[in-house]
Amino acid sequence: MKLNTKYILPLVIISITACNNQKMESTKQQNQPVFPKGEKVISENFTGNVWLNYLSETDTIHNVNIGSVTFEPGARTNWHYHKGGQILLVTEGKGLYQEKGKPIEIINKGDVMKCQPNVEHWHGATSTEAMTHIAIGTNTNIGGAIWLQPITDKEYDKLKPIFQLNYFKYTSH
Ligand code: MN
Repeated sequence: MKLNTKYILPLVIISITACNNQKMESTKQQNQPVFPKGEKVISENFTGNVWLNYLSETDTIHNVNIGSVTFEPGARTNWHYHKGGQILLVTEGKGLYQEKGKPIEIINKGDVMKCQPNVEHWHGATSTEAMTHIAIGTNTNIGGAIWLQPITDKEYDKLKPIFQLNYFKYTSH
C-alpha cells in the first residue's frame, strides 16, 4: 500500500512543531528561578533594591530561618553579624561577600558560605549583576542578626575595579 504523503506530511510537521513548543516551554521553565523573588525589602539595613521571599520560619523544632534574598545590581546589606551564625547558598548570579578585615570575595551561583557566629560581614550584588542567595539563619534560639553601619556608595565604588577584574575568586570557606 502506498502511503498518501499529502495527508501524512502535514501531520508529521504538526507533531514536530508541537514537540518543539513543548521543549521551548520546558526551557523557559528551567530558566525560571526555583523560588519567586518575593517582596521588596523596605529597611535601613540594606542599600539598593533587595527582594525577600521568606521560605521557612523558625519554630520550636527547627532552629532555622530560611529566606531567598535577591540583590539587584549595586544592592547590598549593611555590615552585620549573626548571633547564631548563617549559611548562604548562592542560587543565581554573581555577588560579593566580605568579612571584617578580610579581602572582598566574589561569590557565584553554586557557592556556599558559612558565616560564623558573631563575625562581622556583609553580602550583596556586584554593580553590574544581580545575585540571589538562600540565607539560612542557624541557631535562631541563640539570636538573629545584629545590624551595623551601611557600606557607603563611596566605599562600594572603591571596590568596583576589584570585582570587575574578578580578582578575588571565591573558592571555599
Ligand atoms: Mn549575613
